[in-house]
Amino acid sequence: MSETTEASGSGEITQFRTCPLCEATCGLEITVRDGRIARIRGDRDDVFSKGFICPKGSTLRQLHEDPDRVRTPLIKRNGVFVEASWDEAFHAVAEGLGRIWDDGDRNAVAMYLGNPTAHSIAGGMFIGPLVKAMGTVNVFSASTVDQMPKHVTSGYLFGNANSIPVPDLDRTDYLLMLGANPFESNGSLCTAPDFPGRMAAIRARGGRIVTVDPRRTKTADASDEHIAIRPGTDALWLAALVTEIDRAGLITLGRLDGLVEGLDRALVALAPFDADSVAARTRIDATTTRRIARELAAAPSAAVYGRIGTHTTEYGTLASWLVEVANLVTGNLDSPGGAMFPTPAFGAPTTGRTPGGRGFSTGRWRSRVSGHPEIKGEMPVAALAEEIETPGPGQVRALVTSGGNPVRSCPNSARLDAALASLEFMVSIDIYLNETTRHADVVLPSPSAVAKPHLDLAFYGLSVRNIINYSPPLHPADDPTEPGMDEHEIVARLALIAGGMGPEADPSMLYSMMFTTLAERAGLDAGDEAAAREHLPPVEAMLDLMLTNGPYDDLGIERLRSSPHGIDLGPLQPRLPEMLRTTSGLVEIGPEAILTDVTRLAATLTTAPDERLLLVGRRHLRSNNSWMHNVEVLVKGRPRCTLQIHPEDAADRGVVDGGEVAVSSDTGTVHAAVEVTDSIAVGTVSLPHGWGHGVQGTVGRVAAGTQGVNSNELTGDQFIDPLSGNARLNAIPVEVAAVPGTVEDADTAARSIVRT
Ligand code: SF4
Repeated sequence: MSETTEASGSGEITQFRTCPLCEATCGLEITVRDGRIARIRGDRDDVFSKGFICPKGSTLRQLHEDPDRVRTPLIKRNGVFVEASWDEAFHAVAEGLGRIWDDGDRNAVAMYLGNPTAHSIAGGMFIGPLVKAMGTVNVFSASTVDQMPKHVTSGYLFGNANSIPVPDLDRTDYLLMLGANPFESNGSLCTAPDFPGRMAAIRARGGRIVTVDPRRTKTADASDEHIAIRPGTDALWLAALVTEIDRAGLITLGRLDGLVEGLDRALVALAPFDADSVAARTRIDATTTRRIARELAAAPSAAVYGRIGTHTTEYGTLASWLVEVANLVTGNLDSPGGAMFPTPAFGAPTTGRTPGGRGFSTGRWRSRVSGHPEIKGEMPVAALAEEIETPGPGQVRALVTSGGNPVRSCPNSARLDAALASLEFMVSIDIYLNETTRHADVVLPSPSAVAKPHLDLAFYGLSVRNIINYSPPLHPADDPTEPGMDEHEIVARLALIAGGMGPEADPSMLYSMMFTTLAERAGLDAGDEAAAREHLPPVEAMLDLMLTNGPYDDLGIERLRSSPHGIDLGPLQPRLPEMLRTTSGLVEIGPEAILTDVTRLAATLTTAPDERLLLVGRRHLRSNNSWMHNVEVLVKGRPRCTLQIHPEDAADRGVVDGGEVAVSSDTGTVHAAVEVTDSIAVGTVSLPHGWGHGVQGTVGRVAAGTQGVNSNELTGDQFIDPLSGNARLNAIPVEVAAVPGTVEDADTAARSIVRT
């Protein structure tokens, strides 16, 4: 089968490729007529997504054709961006960064990796060499506003921070979700195209879904039961759930019996938390908690899945850990229908390997200003601004960004915005001049999503079924509308500059070094392996080398190229104990660092709670953090950046639907339009992140016309989850006050529209 089909004589071709926009990895069928994308729809033959597509997936054409997209390297001269050649741009980078490196402090140049970096081959393969060549400890990424608690948990429990169990959605009988809204996010740390369809299938086969969330989301509506929880208390509730399972004598380890260390210690540490002791804090009655504990333990198979709402709190790692404890004590960890580990085609084969390894540790170095420990080679992004602002040895004076928009996605973003403006030099790899990249001195534009090869190196390791799919570029690199350099070459050239090779160094040097490293790691002769792949472009040669030495037989780049609908490698398989890399070779369920932090959680049971309204974020299917707000078809319609508030809380404050409020936290104040709705719990308000466009220096004509405010002017950078460095972006105490001129009397408030 060919990757591309051409209707004879029509000038029309159809190509199949994986959507790179989110973690769901849907297959797309793209029709190109006379050189332009004419239609995009779900690929019905895709082995994984089977035709599913969301509204974002069909907008790749609009992204590709967006006149506001950066298509030429830009150099800022006298405060104005000027188009430049690639040579001029790389010389400017070498000169600008070189000035700072010449002062002898490699830590003075920091790196920020945004979310899109995880969705590209360049990010998956080339960012590592770039960071290594930069030789800086100041590496920051979107992981510490999103998912670092899960990495830390996996590091301690399984010895590998990237060994993340995912709910076996297609076989489970019971799904308990916390802080997750896959109807809007399409799933996260759980690659599952058509998550809604997979949820419907659980219920259709007699299974049960319970969603715990302060908001009655679409996901909650599609569940059998919605339990409203007080924001930020997921760890408390999960701890109580485990204790109740223990007290009811329902603990079973299933196939992991004999493969677990530290459970007794963990259960003792969790003893203060039970259905009664957490009821007031979580606002979940004890009867419900005990019932869920029994349901979870009694289900033939069950999976607990906690996502961003559980991670972006001060107890994110504890909540993440307790998700795995609940999976473990109900016999569902590494068991079909439970929480299982994918076997990605690019992973090292583990079958037959002896369990055990070096384990996981943090704190190999510490941040300069606040002393935060390094975690997985990174610093908390909440510390980026202070590292830029604070003078002294090691001060961050320059920054390289790859994708992302931390000025919209990171805590205390007004402070970060000002800090970026004070940098001596900044380089950004990006397709837009957004609120962050407007501060850059040099912008290096990556090609559009359809003009570069794509393979989800990261997300097939988080997939609910073992899958592999490769997409060659739809538009050739020499398409005159494209920037003319693939993203991996941009990153490779930066790595060579950072490595002292200069702006004119040939990237094939780096490709060759990377290929040799891969071959030697696999115990192979690099020369022989390279000779066998001489006919392949360098990146495909590396991918082929990894595939042919991965856990599956008969996989290689040629087979992927001739399988445009992907290759199904089967359902998830039990992988313990072989894949364990803990020092004991066991699942270390009670690590000292985590159990120590449990005492911090226990202290909250006896301190007075903050009774202010608590702010949470929310996702929308037509949004992708901040970067797709320049796509007209996605942002049209009723403004979505509204402050949701319960009718009782609205009435108490004289706030009306459609009015305007001032939302104030300890960090800042924003004004937002109000949406009164009983879908949100009393005491909780919600504002989505990623909005607030039209700032001077940005280029995004559609985005500039959208209404909305930047919710991260409310989130503080002083509160983080100490175990993971993850920012607290949820459960922010706020005051909400009607803005004079929009305040109506209480009767009007009571009559205000309630959207349900
Ligand atoms: S769900 Fe994600 S991968 Fe699928 S079409 Fe939408 S954006 Fe693309």
